[in-house]
Amino acid sequence: RRSSDLRTKQKLEVLVEHAVKDGLTGVNNRRHFDFYLEKKWRYACRYQHPLGVLMIDIDHFKGYNDLYGHPAGDDTLKSIAYTIATNLFRVEDFVGRYGGEEFAVILPDINKDDLIHVAERIRAAVAELKIPHAKSEVSEIVTVSIGAGITFAHADNSIDNLVRVADEALYQAKNKGRNQVTCLELRQPKYK
Ligand code: GH3
Ligand code: MG
Ligand code: MG
Repeated sequence: RRSSDLRTKQKLEVLVEHAVKDGLTGVNNRRHFDFYLEKKWRYACRYQHPLGVLMIDIDHFKGYNDLYGHPAGDDTLKSIAYTIATNLFRVEDFVGRYGGEEFAVILPDINKDDLIHVAERIRAAVAELKIPHAKSEVSEIVTVSIGAGITFAHADNSIDNLVRVADEALYQAKNKGRNQVTCLELRQPKYK
């Protein structure tokens, strides 16, 4: 009876893990990311705290898969996920796999300088892996571009706008030459 209780408990743990974790990389999945962001957004609105989001996208990853193969691409995705996760030090920081080769990080209650500092630390740590990438147009190794968005959360704004601003920052980082961090602030809507 005790061993069957144990088996039930283990099965539940596996179910919970499947519900919140990304199967390939082991970081949080998109659904869990959205859930956590919503929660932190409401908290930030309530206490008028700032909220930061990083969008992290691998540079020229299509070329990487083409040259080294999809299984090697998967290994690189795992290494980058691990590198991001181990470069977040606060208990409330949260990383999720946002899309195919894109990760997103939530940093509650952080100022702009520290947000850029964390993003730069992640960017440098990925470069420090020194994974060869002969098809990259910006480097000989695998690099990431990072868009940072920050806001003093306010009920009149929305999470979607914060993610949009981080996405716009990522787009700018790509256009400026990749392997770099760009930060944009989400301004409060103007009252008429
Ligand atoms: P950019 O620097 O502009 O981001 O160029 P990119 O080639 O990284 O961008 P693009 O969006 O064109 O390509 C993303 C590639 O990521 C396409 C796909 O081959 C790869 N990818 C997405 N998901 C996975 C995955 O789960 N495993 C592997 N190995 N590759 C993936
Ligand atoms: Mg992408
Ligand atoms: Mg990419």
